[in-house]
Amino acid sequence: MKVLVATEKPFAAAAVEGIKKEVESAGHELVLLEKYTEKAQLLHAVKDADAMIIRSDKVDAEVLDAAEKLQIVVRAGAGYDNIDLKAATSHHVVAENTPGQNSNAVAELVFGMLVMAVRNFYNGKSGTELKGKRLGILAFGNVGRNVARVAKGFGMEVYAYDAFCPADVIEAAGVHACKSQDELFESCDIVSLHIPATPETLKSIGYQLVNKLPKGGVLINTARKEVINEDELLKLLADRTDLKYVTDIMPDADAAFKKLEGRYFSTPKKMGAQTAEANINAGIAAAKQINAYFADGCTKYQVNK
Ligand code: NAD
Repeated sequence: MKVLVATEKPFAAAAVEGIKKEVESAGHELVLLEKYTEKAQLLHAVKDADAMIIRSDKVDAEVLDAAEKLQIVVRAGAGYDNIDLKAATSHHVVAENTPGQNSNAVAELVFGMLVMAVRNFYNGKSGTELKGKRLGILAFGNVGRNVARVAKGFGMEVYAYDAFCPADVIEAAGVHACKSQDELFESCDIVSLHIPATPETLKSIGYQLVNKLPKGGVLINTARKEVINEDELLKLLADRTDLKYVTDIMPDADAAFKKLEGRYFSTPKKMGAQTAEANINAGIAAAKQINAYFADGCTKYQVNK
């Protein structure tokens, strides 16, 4: 079988080496398409691929149309909103992600950004500490759970709300389970977003909800920009000069947010999963999942069931 690794933004060399070893150990062939600049290059490369590993690369109906032999596409990472799932299903292509492989990397970045935010972005003025503060985790998935673990090391009081994870699972991790998003924002000094971008979560973080944060509240987003209602958040930050917003996903309205001097920060490029470890873990997990699919039809991580 031909396994195509199509990455506009390539994996680290060590990850590619690991993927190659995995794929070849199962008797398959690895083909690399890295740093492509035109969609046409991707359309050409997928033509004879039986499987494909991608990162943030877009797999839409046009790509799936061109991929005549494709059986499985694996997004090396957690979010899979770059794959058109409906089109994958109608093309009988299994779409998978590699959950959990980059969650520690994202969780560590949350705290890197939080310390910077509560120390006033290192502007020389006295800040605050995280110890004793209440941290709200919106969505208790792989990243949310790692954030809870690290937060306890900082001596924070940890709260979480998840629409699908039962309260007793949250409580068993030593975290206060909230009954709603509203309760989470009302109860916490800092709220960290870990919801996926779905039709339900799109633009779901807006004025009314974030306004529930107490004085001096911080909102941190390492999830997706699409979950934020940017117009409403900008209005709130103008009305509430005590609030801060830090994000790993640059908003469309970055220029307007930048005017909120000392209360806003965005990484120039999404950095959450950008560690050597996460890169290697996710890439190798993707290769293993493809091997398992071809070996015995395993679809444990399928997201378009
Ligand atoms: P995950 O699938 O392990 O967890 C997602 C959690 O969200 C699940 O527990 C689910 O029950 C919950 N959820 C779904 N819809 C919800 C809703 N409407 N309200 C409340 N909870 C809801 O995913 P993860 O690995 O924890 O990652 C979370 C998100 O973070 C990803 O979807 C991705 O968009 C983003 N992410 C960003 C980076 C980055 O580089 N910044 C890296 C990895 C993941």
